[in-house]
Amino acid sequence: MTSVTVRVPAKVNLQLSVGPPRDDGYHDLVNVFHAVSLFDEVTASDDLSVLPGDLVGGVVSEQVTIMVGVEGESADQVPVDASNLAVKAAFALAERAGRPVSARLLIRKAIPVAGGMAGGSADAAAALVACDELWGLGLPRQELMEIAAGLGSDVPFALLGDTAVGTGRGEMLVPAPVTGRFHWVFALAEGGLSTARVYAECDRLREATGEQVAWPQADEGLMEALSAGDAETLGKTLSNDLQPAALMLCRPLARTLEAGREHGALGALVSGSGPTCAFLAESDTHAASLAMAMEVAGVCRSAVTAFGPVPGATIVRPLP
Ligand code: ATP
Repeated sequence: MTSVTVRVPAKVNLQLSVGPPRDDGYHDLVNVFHAVSLFDEVTASDDLSVLPGDLVGGVVSEQVTIMVGVEGESADQVPVDASNLAVKAAFALAERAGRPVSARLLIRKAIPVAGGMAGGSADAAAALVACDELWGLGLPRQELMEIAAGLGSDVPFALLGDTAVGTGRGEMLVPAPVTGRFHWVFALAEGGLSTARVYAECDRLREATGEQVAWPQADEGLMEALSAGDAETLGKTLSNDLQPAALMLCRPLARTLEAGREHGALGALVSGSGPTCAFLAESDTHAASLAMAMEVAGVCRSAVTAFGPVPGATIVRPLP
């Protein structure tokens, strides 16, 4: 049996500026992505026998057979059919193979599902890298990035990793210079929030308040804080235009954010479309004590620590 395991990070948006809705239904964004050390793993193998556990699905077409299983964090909320983003990625890649291909994908989830940390997109990126290696395609990174952009706005960043400014739907990426390492706490919530619902609520709130929506621009203060490794300024410049909508749809999050600030977080915001909340800490020890305080305060399902930036989807077994 041949197998390839790829590790892929979650993301937090340090700045998420949302422009007016476009004709195609998407919004123009400025999306400062930051990859953090909360990882899913995707193993692709050529052994098509059934996986242990119940969460097993198979998707077969004339040329392509993909089996998929999911374990770990909220695995029961992840589909094991053709709607699984890792399966979609494997099918998209298979088109480039020019011959029949097959794979069994095992997804080990640590990234919260529907948590605003792009877990599904991460799995898609990991499946691209794993299947490219398993099938010996050796596609250039640029070609993988193009396939990734076709799969979803957040998938290219999961390939790239580190910190990057995304424009367009968020898929046009320019790497951003960062000095040092930033320490984070992520407060995981009960249940998830649908990204489409949060965008719709954002539009509704803006219409109701008559808010003039400016063309999104990268925040210079935030970019300077990143390149200087200045956590204190970074904390003050974090921003997310989707936050009011996420708070409207999930009211208890306001208390979660407040609790983090009370315990000394340098910055606190909803991660992407939520409901995960992100807190910037002063150091790794501060992050550990902040996470414990959040759990003791009972304002989240659990709190995990992580640091960023970290690389994008990377083969960990066998080593490249
Ligand atoms: P984003 O931050 O990109 O908006 P998210 O982190 O809020 O996304 P995901 O974890 O990517 O949300 O999941 C969104 C939905 O996608 C889930 O409710 C799930 O049904 C579906 N999904 C499909 N494939 C996957 C996958 N491999 N992992 C997680 N969810 C998946």
